[in-house]
Amino acid sequence: MLDKPGKLPSSGLLVDIEGVRQAFRKGEKGEHVVLDNVALKIAKGEIVGLLGRSGSGKSTLLRIVSGLVPPTTGKVEWCGEPVTGPCEGLSMVFQSFALFPWLTVLENVEIGLEAQGIPAAERRKRALEAIDLIGLDGFESAYPKELSGGMRQRVGFARALVIHPKLMLMDEPFSALDVLTAETLRTDIIELWGEGKLPIGSILMVTHNIEEAVLMCDRILIFSVNPGRVAAEIKVDFPHPRDRLDPAFRQMVD
Ligand code: ADP
Ligand code: MG
Repeated sequence: MLDKPGKLPSSGLLVDIEGVRQAFRKGEKGEHVVLDNVALKIAKGEIVGLLGRSGSGKSTLLRIVSGLVPPTTGKVEWCGEPVTGPCEGLSMVFQSFALFPWLTVLENVEIGLEAQGIPAAERRKRALEAIDLIGLDGFESAYPKELSGGMRQRVGFARALVIHPKLMLMDEPFSALDVLTAETLRTDIIELWGEGKLPIGSILMVTHNIEEAVLMCDRILIFSVNPGRVAAEIKVDFPHPRDRLDPAFRQMVD
């Protein structure tokens, strides 16, 4: 189901960021250093988490990874090539869903493919597959305002995965949802990932919820604030908490 990985550098890294500094001008004289000497490497098949307080530059780093914003200085490579503009093969899930209210679920998902020059019939087929996968079957003609928050974010996920991205960026994807809804959606995503059903190469996820980070990520970078630096990196060991959701694993330990 996964697209061919395409060209990857010999390092096998999708994202290779080193020495990234991002400073914004502050008033007449000063500058606000948001990110300082940040390194981030993402290989295929990983879920990497960015954890840190509000204002530590996590969203700024996602924008840099996606090529939407260049850093003040530093190396930013995507699939072995220097990033000079928006990266291809990368999609984003937003905290606030960012759906088009005047479009149906199906249209919101299909729009993810519009820029790729894919024929209409193929777009429809791919969008319906993504909708089905994410549990939105039967809601194709609904409008966002007719859906609950959890369902809206499912549309956000479907729109992001319909392009079969090499990397999916998620910026606090569950934090606008109530606790139970967030847990249900998180569990669904983890199960689909574990079963190899998500047509996604790797995931980079921002969160400020440490439990969520440990549950979902293979590696977690913890950011300090002012300036945002990688203060620590945690590797989540085997057996991974994700696998503990697996009924077979639960049976083993019960
Ligand atoms: P986080 O996602 O970790 O909460 P952000 O990346 O959103 O942090 O923001 C980090 C800091 O950078 C904030 O203080 C924010 O005000 C500042 N910032 C982000 N983008 C800009 C910008 N375009 N101009 C000026 N300051 C910015
Ligand atoms: Mg943010």
